[in-house]
Amino acid sequence: MASEFDIIARYFSFAAAGSGGVVLGVGDDAALLQAGSEQVMVATDTLVAGMHFPAAASPERIASRALAVNLSDFAAMGAIPRWLCLALTLPDNDENWLQAFASALANGCAQYNVALVGGDTTRGPLTISLTVLGQLPAHALSCLRRDAAKPGDDVWVSGALGAGAAALSLLEPAAAKSAAWRPTAAQAQQLEQHFYAPEPRLALGQALVGCAHAAIDISDGLLADAGHIAAASDVQLVLRGDDLPIHEALATLENKQQLQPWVLAGGDDYELLFTAARDQRSKIEAISEQLGIRCSLVGSAQAGSGVILQGANWTMPAATGFQHF
Ligand code: ADP
Ligand code: MG
Repeated sequence: MASEFDIIARYFSFAAAGSGGVVLGVGDDAALLQAGSEQVMVATDTLVAGMHFPAAASPERIASRALAVNLSDFAAMGAIPRWLCLALTLPDNDENWLQAFASALANGCAQYNVALVGGDTTRGPLTISLTVLGQLPAHALSCLRRDAAKPGDDVWVSGALGAGAAALSLLEPAAAKSAAWRPTAAQAQQLEQHFYAPEPRLALGQALVGCAHAAIDISDGLLADAGHIAAASDVQLVLRGDDLPIHEALATLENKQQLQPWVLAGGDDYELLFTAARDQRSKIEAISEQLGIRCSLVGSAQAGSGVILQGANWTMPAATGFQHF
């Protein structure tokens, strides 16, 4: 059966990188295009009601999640977002909904300094599709990419993991009922906040250009996204379970069977997973300190393929990440 990634590889990877101004095409978090003497970065993301967020979520929250998720792909490239297109499919023309959605989107655009310059509006099941366009920082000679990890690199993770999947379990009534762990009201609020307004690590990604080798944003799940770097770079990533940063809202969750799949395979964390040479450690620590974003050294890259998980108390989950098919 064809997976989402088989479909992309089999049917939609026909434009060769290196031709027609395509510097970096299908297969990374965003594409890099040569337009005259300038380079342009572009990424598209679609959110479907009932699939990527509960259909009853507030319009403000839907707008903030859609924008953050889209910008997270730019963070993974070290790029600066500048322009946005919105393809909006609506079940009806509810003006209260539209007003709330539009003002939240406008606030987000102002916060990240991006201009909404186009899109499309159609009728159908609620679907938000955003395309962000932008550029690399002026100092950049190249962008961060999935295929640039080298044997001997350190592997790093920004922020902390597990909140995205834990939040989803609260938002899906069936999953919540079977869950043994009951978060406090404060923890639940923190998790929901993370789900609807994850913080795209734009400043970190931009600071890592020229310092880190490979990067990806953790949207599918740590192991799945580490697997994307390993496959694209033709290396093996070794991750140390005991060094993985766990989100503070999950501090009271002691059940490993519940916690570990969320941390390893849950997805929706929107943190950066990146690799860098060992001699960059002090530079990365300085960037982390300056931006106030935790960066944890969680593993290494070596010759080989795939992802290995180390740690006596850690078990590979049955599914390593989210896939649509
Ligand atoms: P991400 O999770 O970072 O948004 P995806 O896993 O959705 O990335 O996509 C993987 C790669 O495949 C990306 O480079 C994306 O642009 C590309 N891609 C996904 N769907 C299509 C499609 N229908 N046509 C062309 N490229 C696609
Ligand atoms: Mg991505």
